[in-house]
Parts: sequence; structure tokens; C-alpha cells
Amino acid sequence: MFRLLNVSGRSALEVDGTWFDLATVAGDETLADPMTAIARSAELHALSDHCAGSAPGGDVDTTPLGPPSPRPRQVFGIGVNYADHAAESGLEAPPAPLTFTKFPSAVAGPTADVPLSGEMVDWEVEIVAVIGSRCSRVDRDRAWDVVAGLTLGQDVSDRAVQFTNTPPQFSLGKSFPAYAPIGPALVSVDSFDDPDDLALWCDVSGERMQSARSSQMIFSIPTLVAYLSSICTLEPGDLIFTGTPDGVGMARGRFLAEGDVIESGAEGIGGLTNRCVAGLGPVSP
Ligand code: ZN
Repeated sequence: MFRLLNVSGRSALEVDGTWFDLATVAGDETLADPMTAIARSAELHALSDHCAGSAPGGDVDTTPLGPPSPRPRQVFGIGVNYADHAAESGLEAPPAPLTFTKFPSAVAGPTADVPLSGEMVDWEVEIVAVIGSRCSRVDRDRAWDVVAGLTLGQDVSDRAVQFTNTPPQFSLGKSFPAYAPIGPALVSVDSFDDPDDLALWCDVSGERMQSARSSQMIFSIPTLVAYLSSICTLEPGDLIFTGTPDGVGMARGRFLAEGDVIESGAEGIGGLTNRCVAGLGPVSP
């Protein structure tokens, strides 16, 4: 079991609320890069056990964290992957995973501010699977073997941009700066009693908006890994945003405003706290 963090751009392991610099614990500076640590995640279980003998870096609670996978080559998003969210969106359950990309420039840390891109920006709490091994055409039965672990994400979504055209395209409206905060930790799969059944929730400025269990996904994480890898070669650090449950703003007629705080949580992973701030100006054209 391990919990991998990004502290000031360096890999760190969390043990009992304390973080330890991974390269120092391992005596191997090449592990300082979180992308390298993810690609060598099989080694992190034993290194986590060695932390107790090393000098602690500090308390996790008081240390600003970066995204646990800071430079993914690919970030997949899955739309309409919970039946209750399909219903609130007026959509049928899709016959295959409805896949888009969040461009990797949107990735941010677990407490990043989110500059709002307009008047119709929405929240979507999601479990995020982090790939640990280069792979293609993975059998569903073996899919967990290529997952380094799980983290939590917000698939922040500008609905106006998403629905500018007919048919809509999801990717750009979900790719503004900091529209993909992830964290706080990349948690190894063996840390969970059942990695297919985690509670997740989202509060906006103190009001509970979303609350569900990941077992309600239409396409499970193993199914998503099998499907995506049947088309794309997956790389260590690649992210799969697995879809959001019901309770998004579009269905409520309420969108994010400057000063709102999005608090997202998941059982066994931890939380994100993202403050909405003034945006960067209108989208052109
Ligand atoms: Zn989403």
C-alpha cells in the first residue's frame, strides 16, 4: 500500500499524515519526478514501509500539494457514466463509454484556484484512475494490474463552451486552466477494500450537491481500461476521469460564481478544496 504525493514538484510518500521525500527514502534521485515514481509504482509499496526510518518532510495537512500526476500524456474523460446523471441530463445510458479528453494543460493541484471562464461553469466530482504501466489491449480481468492507483478529480466544465456547437463537443469546455484539479494523493489499488465501490461527494460553498458510490458507474474502471486500451496505448501517469454522479449545476440551474469553494471528497482518497476566482476574459471568437 502507498499514498504518493507531489510536494513542490517532487515525489513524496504519505505515511500516517506525514510526508517523506521519495528520492531520499529510496536513495535514488531519479524517483524525484512524480511521473517516474508512477511508472515505478510497484516499488512504492516496499519504499512506503521504509519511510519510518527516514527524516520526515512535514505534516501533509499543512503542506501545499501539487497534482500527483503532473504531466500526463493523455487525460480521458467519460461522460454520462452514472445512470442518475444520465437521467438528470435527459440522456440515454450510452452503449459504449462516451469518451472525450481534458487537455493535459488543465491539470492542477488539489487546492488550486479555479479561474472561471464564464457564467455557466459547473462542478463534477469524479474518481480518477491513474495508469501505472504502458499497455494496450488489456483484458478486463487484468485491468487493475495496469492501474497505479486512484485519485480524486473535479471535471470542471464550462457548459456554454461545451454546447456551443451541434453536436456538442466536450473537450475544450473542460480544459481551461485548472479545470482538472486532482489529488490529494495517488492511492494504491490495494489500499481499498473494494476499489470499485467508493463513496464520493461534492459540496459547493457548504451545500452538499453530489453524493454517490462509484459502484453505480455504468462502465466500471476495469471496463474503461479495457475499452480505452483497445484503441489507445496507455502510458504511466495517464488519467481517466471516470464520470460524475448526479447533482451537477446544469441540472440544478445553479453555476459557479466568484468566491464559491468547491469541496470534493472520496472515501480512502481524501479531499480537494478549490476556490473559484475571477476569470481570464471572454473566449474568442
Ligand atoms: Zn465529467
